[in-house]
Amino acid sequence: MSTTSTALRTHTCGELNAGDIGRTVTLCGWMDVKRNHGGVIFINLRDLYGVTQIVVGPESPVFKAAEELKSEFVLRVTGRVSARPGANANKNMPTGEIEVVAETLEILNASQPLPFELSEHAGVNEDTRLRYRYLDLRMPRIARNLVLRSRLANVVRAYLNSLGFNEIETPVLTRSTPEGARDFVVPARGAPGSFYALPQSPQVFKQLLMVSGMDRYFQLARNFRDEDLRADRQPEHTQIDLEMSFVTEADVAAVVEGMMKEVFDRTGEKIETPFPEMEYEDVMLRYGSDKPDLRFSLEIKDCSSIFADSGFKVFRGALDAGGVVRGIKGEGGAAYSRGEIDKLTELLKKNGAKGLVWLKFKDGKFDSPTLKFLDEAELSGLRTLYSLGEGDILFICAGERSATARHMGMVRNELIARLKPAAVKKWAFLWVRHFPLLEKDPDSGHWTFTHNPFTAPLPEELRKLDTDPGGVRSCQYDLVLNGVELGSGSVRNHSRAVQEKIFGLMGYSPNEIQRRFGMIVNALDFGAPPHGGIGIGFDRLIGIICGTDSIRDVIAFPKTTSGACLMTDAPSRLDDRQLKELHLRIDDVKSEG
Ligand code: ASP
Repeated sequence: MSTTSTALRTHTCGELNAGDIGRTVTLCGWMDVKRNHGGVIFINLRDLYGVTQIVVGPESPVFKAAEELKSEFVLRVTGRVSARPGANANKNMPTGEIEVVAETLEILNASQPLPFELSEHAGVNEDTRLRYRYLDLRMPRIARNLVLRSRLANVVRAYLNSLGFNEIETPVLTRSTPEGARDFVVPARGAPGSFYALPQSPQVFKQLLMVSGMDRYFQLARNFRDEDLRADRQPEHTQIDLEMSFVTEADVAAVVEGMMKEVFDRTGEKIETPFPEMEYEDVMLRYGSDKPDLRFSLEIKDCSSIFADSGFKVFRGALDAGGVVRGIKGEGGAAYSRGEIDKLTELLKKNGAKGLVWLKFKDGKFDSPTLKFLDEAELSGLRTLYSLGEGDILFICAGERSATARHMGMVRNELIARLKPAAVKKWAFLWVRHFPLLEKDPDSGHWTFTHNPFTAPLPEELRKLDTDPGGVRSCQYDLVLNGVELGSGSVRNHSRAVQEKIFGLMGYSPNEIQRRFGMIVNALDFGAPPHGGIGIGFDRLIGIICGTDSIRDVIAFPKTTSGACLMTDAPSRLDDRQLKELHLRIDDVKSEG
């Protein structure tokens, strides 16, 4: 008996093979395709597990019934497993060596013609597929991802359980949680004018669990963030959320690395641990992004020293203003056309760059409109620093330090996309550590957190909170995989004084601190242990493993990029009775018509 046999079936449509020849079996599934070959009817019976060929001969008592069948009818077939005659065997299909000769055929349910053809190649648009997602999921592409997702969730649970983590659910109806996005809110009928917020993450609760002494917490938690959506974002997403007491950054990293190893092992992939780690500053200098794709070895290099006394005003001016000059080589990039370079320059300008200098190295010499401004020593300095060879291109930007880092990062991404350099590894994990604790909020002019308001400063930088808040490095770490930010976490403030000081720098008055963060700040007074944790994007992780760019492909019922669920028609208007109960009145909204 297989584990998937039930009162209605002995086997699934994906499990019979030559070893079963001669057995009488009962299968259930959907009629995928029917072919009538000179009086013999072949039916592909399909379920989640695969497809089995059913044969109905002209003499069969069920021949008449088989003739009437239509696509997607739900069938129950009993018959004998037999070998497919020689030429008909299909070695590429798990059930390809056998067929089931139908003896009884029962229609469990009929089906109307479907609104679209169930074929990956039918070119059906995504909106239609999302409107009928339950039909879309009958095709293997997404269904397979969901099955893998379930298996990997189990791997994560088993692994964390084995390390003593407790899976604890935290509220979904709560109050505003500070993760930097807008909250989704739910009106409270019992408290007119008041609202619950859906959690942007269980951050506050998991820290409170540490204060309570729960020691090791995890949850496959749903996070709700009202932000502008992109391909890799959904208004709700799932995060492997964990928190641990009495730890340093290294303890959290070790747990995560072990978890990734198990997850990738389960998919047959070997990854190397420990993962490389880099300081935020260093990553920005070398790759121009805090989530660099390290499958590719291209590196940005600072060439400021070459231009310290340059006659080229653009470089010299940037350096005199305290800025930097940085460049990146694209191997084989001499093939870039003027048009392509202009497009890249435009992109950088749109992002605040003054311009983009380029030098091709062809036929043993440089080619560039900037050549006339550079002297021999500068050119040979560049050649050596970047090891320029025949057919290469060098892109250079000059300007303020962090902006130039970002601009160079864009050039790096473009070089990877255009020149398609060979990947040096398949899975490039990276820990980016010690992000700045605070950055200036351009709107309010106050300091604000870069990742999470509860992140602790590095102990040795505490004193800088008074003198140079923007220069304080924190115990914040991101986990990056193949250029995607997979997770983010930190060691937290367990001292109330430090936490309040940081909130103060962010411009919160003591009253506001109490009002917004009272639950956590007060708890820090009652023996909060040192603690830290991380949230890892589960949808993103599964997406990367399944090789898809869109997390919609790994979510059963995803929303569109405008936040709509086309299947349920959410979000939708409430009727007047509901509004009244909730003491809500809707103003200034055009009627849906
Ligand atoms: N709460 C953080 C987030 O959701 C994760 C963490 O710091 O543990 O991004």
